Amino acid sequence: MKIAVLGGAESGIGAAVLAKVKGQEVFLSDCGKIKDSYAEELRKWDIPFEEGRHSEDLILGADEVVKSPGIPETAPMIQKLRAAGKHIVSEIEFASRYDSAKKICVTGSNGKTTTTSLIYYLLSNAGLNVGLGGNIGKSYAYQVATEQHDYYVLEISSFQLDDIYDFKPDIAIITNITPDHLDRYDNNFENYIRAKFKITKNLSKDDCFIFDNDDEITIRHLDDIILRCKKLPFSQERELEQGAFLRDDKIVLRVEKDETELYLKELALGGRHNVYNSMAAALAAKAMDIDNKVIRESLATFQPIEHRLEPVLSIKDVLYINDSKATNVDSAWYALECQTRPVVWIAGGKDKGNDYSVLQDLVKEKVKAIVCLGVHNEKLHAAFGDIIGEDKMVDTLSASDAVKAAAAFAEAGDVVLLSPCCASFDLFTSYEDRGKQFKAAVRAL
Ligand code: ADP
Repeated sequence: MKIAVLGGAESGIGAAVLAKVKGQEVFLSDCGKIKDSYAEELRKWDIPFEEGRHSEDLILGADEVVKSPGIPETAPMIQKLRAAGKHIVSEIEFASRYDSAKKICVTGSNGKTTTTSLIYYLLSNAGLNVGLGGNIGKSYAYQVATEQHDYYVLEISSFQLDDIYDFKPDIAIITNITPDHLDRYDNNFENYIRAKFKITKNLSKDDCFIFDNDDEITIRHLDDIILRCKKLPFSQERELEQGAFLRDDKIVLRVEKDETELYLKELALGGRHNVYNSMAAALAAKAMDIDNKVIRESLATFQPIEHRLEPVLSIKDVLYINDSKATNVDSAWYALECQTRPVVWIAGGKDKGNDYSVLQDLVKEKVKAIVCLGVHNEKLHAAFGDIIGEDKMVDTLSASDAVKAAAAFAEAGDVVLLSPCCASFDLFTSYEDRGKQFKAAVRAL
């Protein structure tokens, strides 16, 4: 087989290495620049590649094309391949052909990394030989090429689900569905929902689907489709016949005939959103028959992940929290919701068509000042200026100025929360860059 891989980043490199390991003729092409470390990896494996262009004859001459998730359907090369009727697959589809491990796959709008990491931690603590991958760390394909695991926990974005055919998780999880990345789906929310639900398309009756029963969008879509697999919902609003729900100060896990309780106060991760994530992870563990004691201890000892409500420092009794990964309104909502102290809120960045009105009540209740950190802050002023007063809002263009401005507003007992609601690309290279610059600025205060 001749394989052409499009895109020379994490998943493209993984797919190319896997093709090579499996003895196929492989060529990688990226119309942009390939990072030095990835180019080095390709040379190491003796894989031919090009950057800055696509050699159409080579790509169209391949038997199959593996497309990286970052490449949109509208890219001219993809349109040419489609017009030529070429078979295009995603990296996870390609990798799954060579892998017989059991797979727990997590998608959704928010909470993917947290839930995936929680499950990985749980399974590792249970002594299983488990790999962690997908959107986190090394790509799934790279691990299939170079490692041997009995289980994988994979974080999967909707882009990665775009070109799957036979890819099948044993346990599939949709954490929740709220508008995000709609630009990739013709601004059509239904397309985005369908893209996420592709994770369920090959589930058979012995497989399991875990989902948020409080999420109306998920529930409405479930009414429209037929799923033969076992269903394990989770809810903070009502008791369920099967799944996870709240009773008094406990999470109840009800799976088959077993009922287990976990104390909310013992969960390592705070906030209502993390109750959902913990429920999803615990249900995945129950579905795999993992011991209750391991579940309880793992959820109690898990360490917060960088850039997700990560406590940075307390200075003069002002706690600085880095939630740079909150790149949409829903994640910022949960960040504000779980604050118990007055908040100086650092928000802003590249707006993805946000509707800020859902945050207005929380801002009224909890926020004393807003530091805007972005090139265009007009929408933030329009949404919140009247609520907290324009004199309590300031515009900044760097993490360091934002932190200084926030420190000036804050008094002992307050929280300074970076939870931007927006992508970072107007002022930073990534949300990690934004979070790291924020932390450095806090340490420099
Ligand atoms: P993802 O991988 O889906 O982007 P993360 O676990 O990295 O999710 O979290 C992204 C942001 O969303 C963080 O700000 C985090 O605090 C918030 N978050 C985490 N879980 C949830 C959830 N279940 N619902 C809403 N927001 C969440």
